[in-house]
Amino acid sequence: MTKTILIAALFHETHSFVEQGTSLDDFSIKRGAELLARRGDASTIDGFLEVADEHGWTVIPANDYQAAPAGPVDHSVFVQFTAELLNTLRDSLARGRLDGIWLSLHGAHVTTESVDVEGDLLRMIRTVPGAETLPVFGVFDLHANFTELMSEGANCLVAYRENPHTDSRDMAVLSARLLARCLNEGAVPRMYTRNAPVMWAPPGTGTADSPMKDLEALARQIEAEDNGIWVANVIGGYSFSDVPSAGVAFSVVTTGPAEEAAHALDRLEQLAVDMRELGQPPEWDLDAAVLDIKSKSDEGGPFLIVEPSDNIGGGAPGDDTAVLRAFLRHGIDNAAVAIADAEAVAALASAKPGDTVKLTIGGKGSKLGAGPLEVEGTFLRRSDGKYVLEDRNSHIVASRGVNIDMGPSAVIQVAGVTVLLSSVKMAPADLGQLRSQGIIPESLKAIDIKAAVQHRRAYDKIMRGSYTVSTPGPCTSNIATLPFRRLRAGVFPFDA
Ligand SMILES: [Zn+2]
Repeated sequence: MTKTILIAALFHETHSFVEQGTSLDDFSIKRGAELLARRGDASTIDGFLEVADEHGWTVIPANDYQAAPAGPVDHSVFVQFTAELLNTLRDSLARGRLDGIWLSLHGAHVTTESVDVEGDLLRMIRTVPGAETLPVFGVFDLHANFTELMSEGANCLVAYRENPHTDSRDMAVLSARLLARCLNEGAVPRMYTRNAPVMWAPPGTGTADSPMKDLEALARQIEAEDNGIWVANVIGGYSFSDVPSAGVAFSVVTTGPAEEAAHALDRLEQLAVDMRELGQPPEWDLDAAVLDIKSKSDEGGPFLIVEPSDNIGGGAPGDDTAVLRAFLRHGIDNAAVAIADAEAVAALASAKPGDTVKLTIGGKGSKLGAGPLEVEGTFLRRSDGKYVLEDRNSHIVASRGVNIDMGPSAVIQVAGVTVLLSSVKMAPADLGQLRSQGIIPESLKAIDIKAAVQHRRAYDKIMRGSYTVSTPGPCTSNIATLPFRRLRAGVFPFDA
């Protein structure tokens, strides 16, 4: 008999310490058939649809809301999203059979009124008559701040296992296959969760390195050893949401006894505590890093200056000028910097290739950074800012798919630095971003990277060296300096 599954997606990673909030206008919204049109775009929804097709499921597409990581979301967005989703849910239940719900979530979504959006959403789904025991499955980002409410409301949520997130679609497929297992076998799993007394900044959550590499390996071992455990999730956490649950967490999906789940969570938690110092990788002084690149004049490039403090994927504005200033200060030739600044792009509206232009760029999005910089340079070209990801497993594909739009964009040359100005901030997760704008990353000496980890899949394979630098900004790795108000007590590195 054909099974009927309702699907929805809600995706935001919310930075509590940036000034600018996130409103309905910032969200890309799809409803109904528009979700089904995501087939083939390499997103998590595309992954679910592949499994739905395999099993001949009838899919009821509800809604799909997503916005780039940024400040707290206006609560009315959540009210609208849940009203639409619950209406579709009630309607489907009223029409007859509904066999399950599948969700694509982030897990670190905070609104002006809720510190646990995903937990609240799942709780509200359970209040709908007929949905109390419906299987609720889904996929979520390993940068979630996981909660008890999430594990109470869902039967099976599967976290990405890689950072950069090369496996977001694969994990969506896995979660959908587990839903099929639940429907076929009649085995309904439940979730248990544990919040570890540890928080790591984004640079400490890459899965190529310890501690995440070791934690993921232990999770795979637990899944292999314990037949009752369907999934063991390692959740790196998101250190810029001011919520009680912020930081490292683990959850298991199981049909086995609670004691075995607790034992698995004990093992994972203990390893995280033992390795907590390794989640704080050291960072370079910016000038020392740029001078080191300059000293390598005969070694080619590119060398990366990675600045986690302006990490676009972490919610920073992506317009800080500290690295551009350092490149100019030290006379680095053949470097590139991308800065999100719609006003600067607009100011170049009448410029022609070869024109000398004088304008102020960047530094508008955060008071913590280096501030706006006045530059004089040469206008090179402009574009509509649209490009297709070169890599279908790029970190940003989970929610966006492969067709990227960074808005009207312009390229100018300032001394030895090529500056890409875009209207919309876009994380440097794919080489297509620069190449589509006529900037060839392999030919450069130095590149400014506004990220922590997510650039690595694209850039590690072309780089000659990388310097992660410590600069002031909203996504600082020095998380103990952030003004948390809601965080639970006893969390490293806040409490020894
Ligand atoms: Zn993430």
